[in-house]
Amino acid sequence: MIFDIQALPDNFTLEADICIVGAGPVGITLALKLAGNGRRIVVLEGGGPGTERDSQALYRGQVDDAGLHPPPDHYRERRYGGSSTTWGGRLMPFDAIDFEARPYIPHSGWPIDLAAVAPYYGEATQLCEAGRAAFTIEAAFDGPRRDMIAGFTGENFTTNTLERFSRPTDFGRRYRRALETAEGLKVVLHANVTSIARSEAGGHVIGLDVRSLRGRRGRVAAGRIILAMGGLETARLLLASGLGRERDAVGRYYMCHIAGTIGTLKFSGPPDAVWNGYDIAGDGVYCRRRFALRPETQRRRGLGNFVARLHHPRIPDPRHRSGILSALYLARRLVPHDYRTRLQDGEPGGVSRWLAHAGNVISDLPATFGFMVHLLRDRLLAERKYPSVVVRPKANEFSLDFHAEHAPDPDSRVVLTDDTDALGMPRLKTDWRYGAVDIKTVEGALALLEGDIARSGTGRFDYDPSAVEQEMTRYRAYGGHHIGTARMGGNPAVSVVDKDCRVHGLDNLYVAGAAVFPTSSQANPTLTAVALALRLAEHLKGEPR
Ligand SMILES: Cc1cc2nc3c(=O)[nH]c(=O)nc-3n(C[C@H](O)[C@H](O)[C@H](O)COP(=O)(O)OP(=O)(O)OC[C@H]3O[C@@H](n4cnc5c(N)ncnc54)[C@H](O)[C@@H]3O)c2cc1C
Repeated sequence: MIFDIQALPDNFTLEADICIVGAGPVGITLALKLAGNGRRIVVLEGGGPGTERDSQALYRGQVDDAGLHPPPDHYRERRYGGSSTTWGGRLMPFDAIDFEARPYIPHSGWPIDLAAVAPYYGEATQLCEAGRAAFTIEAAFDGPRRDMIAGFTGENFTTNTLERFSRPTDFGRRYRRALETAEGLKVVLHANVTSIARSEAGGHVIGLDVRSLRGRRGRVAAGRIILAMGGLETARLLLASGLGRERDAVGRYYMCHIAGTIGTLKFSGPPDAVWNGYDIAGDGVYCRRRFALRPETQRRRGLGNFVARLHHPRIPDPRHRSGILSALYLARRLVPHDYRTRLQDGEPGGVSRWLAHAGNVISDLPATFGFMVHLLRDRLLAERKYPSVVVRPKANEFSLDFHAEHAPDPDSRVVLTDDTDALGMPRLKTDWRYGAVDIKTVEGALALLEGDIARSGTGRFDYDPSAVEQEMTRYRAYGGHHIGTARMGGNPAVSVVDKDCRVHGLDNLYVAGAAVFPTSSQANPTLTAVALALRLAEHLKGEPR
């Protein structure tokens, strides 16, 4: 059942076998898997059924450098369903190399390998409504498909791996009925956990303090507690409950991804020799290919993981002459905030720019109109949404959109401030940092791609090597990916949870979500976070109650 905390009496106590904090994709996955078999499960969700200004304000905080990181209340949603109410739904698994201790990536290495997570990717992909866990063109499609770039044979890059796209699934809406009807399951809305209470000896959680913005208070006691509040909020609760004093790694190693758009790829063959669109799998799922840096090259060159996609030219610059891109620029205020950054990326605005974009729209009217029809039909009205804007650029010229691993660094961290929110919890400050190893990854990968394209005789990739650092930070830390703040590891001095996601030194406290990832991969985090949640559910079900 799902109900509001106001339905409980003041100073209530609730008891459960398992308490899950947070009803985003990870918390909902855990609830779906753990419910049943006589287990009493309570899910405490701080938000309400929709966006509420005062709930969202609990996410406010500070940033050390506003040029490097968005404000903490952007790119996450404090509401039932969590950030799956706004996410893009791009899914791909981690690669085997992501789990390895790599001497050239300091602090890398998971205590588990890909084989421990791989069995859960199938169900995780289904929960995300992205079909089968088939992430290469050969595995996803029966017959041969057109090449991404005809004739391209990359010494350092492959082009056969796929990103699959969720509807994108709003986990709260999609699984509401299942949560409402699951045996022994209670989902309490507006139930904000403000503190973790421990036994006197400190090794056991005896309860969670819960408050609503309308003044309701209570305590939840549970045999096992799982924090599934997202990468920032999990660290905040652990720190606010004093756990950071004993475990220095809490809040450290904070990673997002390193992403940007750079250069010009000009292909020499006919336009149809290059495919930058989506392939649609049998189950209707949109899939897209990309350049992926081979693991053996990463090892040989000492680079982090890296992928890149063929992309349209930078939208704010009207020299692209595309009416479609100019229409998007002119309509940028209608685009949700979290997706607007790339439509106003610091290029000077003004009347002349506006006129140039308007001119593009007028001179490219049939294409612009066709695109609007496609946007309405395939994205706004469609049940499964067309994932992004794909434009066939004039003159067969693309830019390169890259998404790279952000290496772990203990000095990249989140800390508490003296400022408190409406529930009295200290607010967060992010001090997100990137370093020489991240610059080396992007610089190295771009240079190798330039060589691969030239050698294959398919075209050329021109970019300014001196602009790499500026481009990889132009859009700041990649929004919405909050990774590593409660990392998994064997050594409690430099990690927070063990290989089963249990907090070191506490016998009944667990963390689920991207907070536990010791490294960030090139991959967006949600699929692996959901897969790890399935693994944790299985582990807990196997344990005696
Ligand atoms: C604009 C955007 C686009 C994205 N695109 C992608 C993408 O394409 N692919 C991808 O893999 N990922 C993407 N992400 C990231 C993805 O949304 C997250 O990885 C995912 O939502 C994390 O799930 P979660 O359950 O761990 O955390 P969340 O979704 O953050 O859910 C946490 C839940 O905990 C609740 N909560 C927080 N604090 C408390 C508290 N103190 N007490 C009780 N409840 C609390 C919150 O209200 C929330 O419901 C995107 C994110 C954004 C913002």
